[in-house]
Amino acid sequence: MKKIILKAGKEKSLLRRHPWVYSGAIDRVAGYPSNGDTVPIYTSQGAFLAHAAYHSQAPIAARVWSWQQDERIDDAFFYRKLTQAIALRKDLGLSQQSTGSRLVHGESDGLPGLVVDRYDRVLVIQIGSMGVERWRETLLDILKALCDPICIYERSDTEVRELGGLTKRTGVLWGELPHDLTIKEYGLHFAVDVAHGQKTGFYLDQRDNRAKIRTLAKDKEVLNCFCYSGGFSVYANQGGAKSILSVDSSDNALALAQRNFTLNGLDIDSLQWQCADVFQMLRKLRDQNRQFDLIILDPPKFAPTAAFAAKAARGYKDINLLGFKLLRPGGILATYSCSSGISNDLFQKIVAGAALDAGVSAHIIDQQMATPDHPILLSFPEGAYLKGLLLRVAD
Ligand code: SAH
Repeated sequence: MKKIILKAGKEKSLLRRHPWVYSGAIDRVAGYPSNGDTVPIYTSQGAFLAHAAYHSQAPIAARVWSWQQDERIDDAFFYRKLTQAIALRKDLGLSQQSTGSRLVHGESDGLPGLVVDRYDRVLVIQIGSMGVERWRETLLDILKALCDPICIYERSDTEVRELGGLTKRTGVLWGELPHDLTIKEYGLHFAVDVAHGQKTGFYLDQRDNRAKIRTLAKDKEVLNCFCYSGGFSVYANQGGAKSILSVDSSDNALALAQRNFTLNGLDIDSLQWQCADVFQMLRKLRDQNRQFDLIILDPPKFAPTAAFAAKAARGYKDINLLGFKLLRPGGILATYSCSSGISNDLFQKIVAGAALDAGVSAHIIDQQMATPDHPILLSFPEGAYLKGLLLRVAD
């Protein structure tokens, strides 16, 4: 019989319902399971712990599907899981806020390695585990039945996938991708480049934090760093910002941002954008004695895991220190980290250190996280990857 037996004492995280089994925790794999097979996991004493998908080459060698011994992992199981995930979003009333939302958020929805984002009637799926890979066709059929999409697009091109020995795969899986895909978020329009954009095409997780910026931008000179497709800039403009400088190092991102400015009929005279490295740009602005009233720092993931935390901390410290220096007294810094390897506490400490070194005193006026369509399972704290601090520098 196929089964995994853990080393003595290595059952603790599973007993807390954390869904990952690292290869180092495994004592014995019996019955020669293939990658993607569902295998029961037992303690060294022979007690059942979970049913999980096995992947021999990955650092996370098993990812849990179910904690119930009598639960069968079959088509009906995935139908239940997807139905529950979709119902959660429906209960939150997200469709009133946006025509784009995350329908499945991996481990948080009990489907480790699966992300499904909805952009109007297009679904984008991202597969990051061998277990999901095995059930790909089943999952596609269920998504078609439950969501009635016009297109399903695959963006399985994350680095994590390569780490796990899965090759990258992207393209239309079903239907036809509309040429000019847009979503409507809090009354604003955004172009979504599902095929070539970052993530699955848009940063759905920042929706509410962008909306907050709209309420703070009136008459402000705004600097939006790492702007991607200009989300925060569009909201700031809508909120009555005096001027907005948007910076990103990607030409493609800025091209999308300009499309979004046009789509929303933005006042182009108040807008500037620069294709530049933010680390250098902030120094240049400091040397030019430029000052702003509202600065947004939303960098890419500096620390995918805790192992990268020290290096990432230096990056966060650097940009936040420069950000504080560029703010006028009374100015606002909206600063984010989407690194799983950086905890809330650590992020706050880094930002506090940056303020100290910049010689400013600041208050936290809001603590932010990802939108609720990226729910955080209590037993899976890694799900709390996005953290944000809204700070006001003292006058
Ligand atoms: N705030 C955006 C998402 C930002 S994602 C939103 O709400 O949609 C991070 C962005 O940082 C990406 O667009 C990426 O191109 C950009 N980027 C990464 N490294 C950079 C660097 N060193 N300088 C400038 N931009 C960078």
